[in-house]
Amino acid sequence: MIVGLGPGPADWMTPEASAAIEAANDIVGYDPYVKRLVLRTDQRVHASDNRVEMDRARLALKLAADGRDVAVVSGGDPGVFAMAAAVFEAIADDPQWSKLDIAVVPGVTAMQAAAARLGAPLGHDFCAISLSDNLKPWTIIERRLRAAADGDFVIALYNPASKARPTRITQAFDLLRALKASTTPVAFARAIGRADEKLTLTTLGEADISLVDMATLVIIGSSETRFIPRDDARPWMLTPRAYGVSR
Ligand code: SAH
Repeated sequence: MIVGLGPGPADWMTPEASAAIEAANDIVGYDPYVKRLVLRTDQRVHASDNRVEMDRARLALKLAADGRDVAVVSGGDPGVFAMAAAVFEAIADDPQWSKLDIAVVPGVTAMQAAAARLGAPLGHDFCAISLSDNLKPWTIIERRLRAAADGDFVIALYNPASKARPTRITQAFDLLRALKASTTPVAFARAIGRADEKLTLTTLGEADISLVDMATLVIIGSSETRFIPRDDARPWMLTPRAYGVSR
């Protein structure tokens, strides 16, 4: 089972995901995600570093081939910049694994959790882009950012910053600032659902990028996205369903 654990809290994990964890003999995953789980002493844990997804995928496949019930876990949804692709890449490389009985258990992805906190920022067409250039060249990311701006999509940025690539978020904002209105609503949704959750609402022109870290999902509005002010509360963020009507 390739299991999505949701963005953090147990409430945001599906009953199917909980059942898959419960049924597993072996849990394979990135250490912080595995640590979130309450496991039995008879369950074997194979926690690892973030950068070794392919090793982790192959280990899970070997354990499953040995007859173990294995849960490969990812935060959020396992199909969104996560372990499902790594497992199927390993299967594509070595067709013997395709005989295994594999299922993907979906989870609430960070983008949905952030949108729920903010109101309805993804109410019209949107796209998701990972700013990580571990596995793709930065020029492709720039091309996609330009295309997303050109298409006037709401943009959700995953993996927006890291110690290894501190300048990437600055470069992305510089690129978007040249193409989109400075008044475009922007949200930094950090550690949604966790104790250190923090939401920052700002605009493309005024955004303080130093607030963005690896636990942050960045949402950049379309030309239609707006904030709805509230008394004594954070404004709601809305991208209306109808295009061109609010102008
Ligand atoms: N599979 C995960 C995404 C993995 S990529 C999912 O579906 O959510 C990791 C990135 O996801 C982080 O850099 C951050 O941009 C985002 N992310 C994951 N959990 C988050 C959370 N609780 N709050 C905000 N962003 C989160």
